[in-house]
Amino acid sequence: MFLRELRDPVTHLGGAGKAVAERLARLGIWSVADLLLHFPRTWDDRSEWTGFVEAARGGGRAHTEATVVAQEWFGYGRMKTLKLIVEDATGRASLPCFNRAFLEKALPVGSRVVVTGTFKLRYKELQASSFEVERLDEGSAPKSGLLPVYPATEGLAQGTIRKLVARAMTEYGKRVEDELPEEIRARRGLLHKRQALAGMHAPASEAEREKGRETLAYEELFWFQLAVAQRGERRKETAIERRPHQGSLRSRLVARLPWKLTGDQIHVVEEIVADLKCPRPMARLLQGDVGSGKTLVAFLAALEAIEGGGQVALMAPTELLARQHAETAARLLEPLGLRLGFLSGNIDDAARPPLLAALAAGEVDLVLGTQALFSDTVQYRSLSLAIVDEQHRFGVLQRIALSRKGPMPDLLMMTATPIPRTLALTVFGDLSVSTIREMPPGRKPIVTHLAMDEHEARVYDFVRKRLEAGERAYFVYPLIGESSKLELKNAEGMAERLAKEIFPEFTVGLIHSRLKEDLKREAMASFKRGATRVLVATSVVEVGVDVPEATVMVIEHAERFGLAALHQLRGRVGRSDAQSWCFLVYSDKLTEEGKARLKAMLGTPDGFVLAEEDLRIRGPGELSGTAQSGALAFTVADPIRDLALLEKARSDAFALVATDPALLSAASHPLREVLARANPFSEGAAGAV
Ligand code: ADP
Ligand code: MG
Repeated sequence: MFLRELRDPVTHLGGAGKAVAERLARLGIWSVADLLLHFPRTWDDRSEWTGFVEAARGGGRAHTEATVVAQEWFGYGRMKTLKLIVEDATGRASLPCFNRAFLEKALPVGSRVVVTGTFKLRYKELQASSFEVERLDEGSAPKSGLLPVYPATEGLAQGTIRKLVARAMTEYGKRVEDELPEEIRARRGLLHKRQALAGMHAPASEAEREKGRETLAYEELFWFQLAVAQRGERRKETAIERRPHQGSLRSRLVARLPWKLTGDQIHVVEEIVADLKCPRPMARLLQGDVGSGKTLVAFLAALEAIEGGGQVALMAPTELLARQHAETAARLLEPLGLRLGFLSGNIDDAARPPLLAALAAGEVDLVLGTQALFSDTVQYRSLSLAIVDEQHRFGVLQRIALSRKGPMPDLLMMTATPIPRTLALTVFGDLSVSTIREMPPGRKPIVTHLAMDEHEARVYDFVRKRLEAGERAYFVYPLIGESSKLELKNAEGMAERLAKEIFPEFTVGLIHSRLKEDLKREAMASFKRGATRVLVATSVVEVGVDVPEATVMVIEHAERFGLAALHQLRGRVGRSDAQSWCFLVYSDKLTEEGKARLKAMLGTPDGFVLAEEDLRIRGPGELSGTAQSGALAFTVADPIRDLALLEKARSDAFALVATDPALLSAASHPLREVLARANPFSEGAAGAV
């Protein structure tokens, strides 16, 4: 069976009850397949043993086999906390078990354990500031080697994820069939899919892990290149008859704008319009930094296509952003007589059928929405242009899938995360690239400041002055609510504190991903209207949000955000000719990398420079996290680092398509199966959930 067909819910695995399943769902894991595809963020090397005493002398990190010699309690009432005293061959240490009272029963005196953590001499004892402890069963040897560290969520311990993945591997691993053509696998020296998964989840060595990763990365790149090759073939075969017209819709929009287009906007629109006059379908990537005015370019492209007699679909990665585009479109395009539609997964059942009917009948010119736009139930009468905003946010296959709707439409992808040109060519094949370098006139550079956590009052005072001057501010936090593990400021808590203690004279709104869509929309609308002057948020506001009146962006625990996210968040301000500010508030627990990121933010406003800086800072060490946040949103592969692999995958895929151009049209072809399943918009995948 192919991996993605392992659709048994995770609850079929022992140890995954309702509570665990709910938490897994937060990570996007519902089925056994999802779990096996939840790859480690990094691997902890547990092959080196360091005792408590050596650890305290050296870097502070211990990894040792120990015995529980006593259980003590400190604090009173609700604050009463368990402390385990453990002893290894080098000495004693204490483990304060905040929120882990259950360890009292789990680890009675005399238990043998493996302890991993950081230790410091405090109150004359070696104390752990953070640790993991695992009980060793009678007679079993402690695990060593590379321990996977998974992306986790509140209330879901690493140990739980590890156990579940291990169980999924034993119970389902044997059923996983290989998906790559055997001939290619042998020639490229790749592993069987099952072994590759084992290499990611339970590697015995670095080499084993790298081999596993390489296989999965190759596979991912191969499917992608296969789709690119097929698209290329289809493009060659597709001849579009364009209806000649004057471009008068475009000039009417431009005439209505309160400002002039920038030179770069004019230039990229010309490039797009030229494409839309060619008999071959367009495949173009538009890149331009945050705030450079890509939305308008998209609208102008849409007008061109609509005047040519087609329909246009504009897809955004979040409902919030799709709604915002719909509102802008209503303001700018409806007066030109365009018929607009909006579609997302949250459109209620009553509103759906009429909209779908209108799309199928060609009674909607421009439909805006989320990925729902390309689900199987949606039929277009004559989709001629598909626009993807913030394209790096979509899975690679999702993006490719768009061009499969009806006869091949023109494709315009937009991104603020630049891809080096040569790479874009390798990755996307025949894709042409347009770039906006110029910002709209009158923009003042955003003033960026770093501030220590303990000086938060100074930042708040500054923000108060801006609010008093009638401006608006965002406050962004890494967490939605309180976390038992991390003592971090969080959006819910801070929304309350800012409203009650700090800015009692102003209204404070709150927005995060767990709010219902209508509440999100209301929070956003109210900030946009100016009814709310402070918007407390998580990274939901990271992509695309446009409220030009906002002039201050405060990011607290800024050290916990990636560079791309910081840049995108900062780009939420500085969207008018007013002066804007960005405060990066950090705590003292700053890692070297964290420091480097904040410095980079301070050093340049340029997204292109920051993207390169980001690669340099992260180095080649980190895995999937990198790829996911990078410009191309692969899961395992990192096309920049895996360039050599990409080139192999590309030549294999293109060769295959050349020998068997009908690959996809042969309904029974096994590759078609796999590709369809990997593709969230296809019948197979959607129907099976
Ligand atoms: P992004 O490229 O990040 O998607 P937007 O399209 O959201 O940027 O544009 C950012 C802001 O700049 C919006 O408020 C938009 O109305 C405004 N804008 C776009 N083009 C111009 C222009 N030529 N002159 C002035 N303002 C512009
Ligand atoms: Mg945008």
